[in-house]
Amino acid sequence: MKIIQLSLIIKILYSIILSNTNIITDDILYNSKPFIVVIDAGHGGKDSGNRGNGYYEKNIALEIALKIGSNLRSNNDIKVIYTRKSDVFVDLFQRARIANSADADLFISIHCDSHNSNAYGAGTFVLGLHANDRNFEVAKKENSVIFYEENYEENYDGFDPNNPESVIGLTLMQETYLDQSIIAAATIQKHFVNDLGRKNRTVKQAGFIVLKYTYMPSVLIETGFLTNKNEGAYLNSEKGQNAMAKAISNAIIDYKNDIMKSLQESYFFDSNEKNSHISDVVEKINYKIQVAASSNKIETKSFNFNGLKSISR
Ligand SMILES: [Zn+2]
Repeated sequence: MKIIQLSLIIKILYSIILSNTNIITDDILYNSKPFIVVIDAGHGGKDSGNRGNGYYEKNIALEIALKIGSNLRSNNDIKVIYTRKSDVFVDLFQRARIANSADADLFISIHCDSHNSNAYGAGTFVLGLHANDRNFEVAKKENSVIFYEENYEENYDGFDPNNPESVIGLTLMQETYLDQSIIAAATIQKHFVNDLGRKNRTVKQAGFIVLKYTYMPSVLIETGFLTNKNEGAYLNSEKGQNAMAKAISNAIIDYKNDIMKSLQESYFFDSNEKNSHISDVVEKINYKIQVAASSNKIETKSFNFNGLKSISR
């Protein structure tokens, strides 16, 4: 378990976390704004991504991303935006900027994993503190692409992918969207497992820089391991890419429908009651700071947290 020292908590106090925030705006419910999803194919151009079994992560990620977009084309209420549609290098912060400029409702980054074992399976990450070394390693690997970028020290506020402490500062902004990011990630995992029978590597948290700068629910999918002989071949095949894209597209539709339904339920009121409803929502805002992440379920007693009280999980 990692417990951040009090001094560090003071350092991060500036970034107060809003939870229970309504992420999808009234525009979707009342003004027929389409649900905008940004599909981000990881890597590209001079950055090949991982080369497990000789495959190119950048090509597989792009193929899956384009297939997701083409699957969703028939849904008039969903608009798809890509961060890249060809084999080009795009800085990580530019990817987030594309999503923010589009005022997107969901950001999905597509990747493939690698490992020096026979590990396999599909996992989906949301931004947060890593609970174990393996999750940190995945984020470190994906974050290291900033070394291909010019001026990365300036663009990422001195962020160092190799330093676990550096990751802590990353996680604060996305906390606002954490609940919905987790719902999106869990929906994607459900489709990987139920539709395709992929091994479930579950929803996890780690400090992915591409997720840090987006202002919307955001997830990063590790579709599988190119280093695993069977899974690498599957992900590199048309059949595998079609299947993975179909599962992700269906998850996006499910997520959108679920979120819309819960918003409609919570917003169900006469128009002349709107203002009082909004004040109800405002009163429900909680301010929280994440101080620990752990793979074990830890009792929320003060003695487990250097004497801190009012701990919730
Ligand atoms: Zn990657």
